[in-house]
Amino acid sequence: MNAPHLRVAGHVSGSRTAHREIDYDGVQSAARELLWALGADVEDAGLEETPRRVADAYCELLTSRPFRATTFPNDGYDELIVARAIPFHSLCMHHLLPFQGVAHIGYLPGRSLIGLSKLGRVVELFARDLQIQERLTTQIARWLDEELEPKGVGVVLEAEHLCMSLRGVQKHGAKTVTSALHGLVRDDARTRQEFLALTTRTSHDQ
Ligand code: ZN
Repeated sequence: MNAPHLRVAGHVSGSRTAHREIDYDGVQSAARELLWALGADVEDAGLEETPRRVADAYCELLTSRPFRATTFPNDGYDELIVARAIPFHSLCMHHLLPFQGVAHIGYLPGRSLIGLSKLGRVVELFARDLQIQERLTTQIARWLDEELEPKGVGVVLEAEHLCMSLRGVQKHGAKTVTSALHGLVRDDARTRQEFLALTTRTSHDQ
């Protein structure tokens, strides 16, 4: 089979992406109530449009764009493929505050390759959700395992969480690093070392 295999990702197969129905009007009235509860003067002209803006912002942060995950047959390439420092942002499910950073994704291909630009879309697919970083990392790795059936997958996320850097311990710029290593990227020492060397180098460069 030489034709690219097309598959629409996003808004499909419920279990892997927790898709919510967003009640836009409900979010607006909840935002208004939140302002009220925070002691704000909701009659203030400056706040008039705030509930709508809040609803718009959450809709955008929580909606991923569907995409076609085009895969190609692999004609014998058997080295690691790594995409480094893919920017992403997500929303912490514990505080409803953003966290953002970069994703490093590597895989050791089996019979299929995926367009490199699609890796960023895979990250976005799961990042536009109420998330914790560990779960996001695992979901990306699992998606690649299922769609590409590669010999190995590695996903490393480095992110700054506003809920950590703006409050509590207030460690501005502190990064949380999570990883998911599957197959030969976990079990083969040389492959694991190569993947981690590539992702560590990025951290030091930034
Ligand atoms: Zn948080």
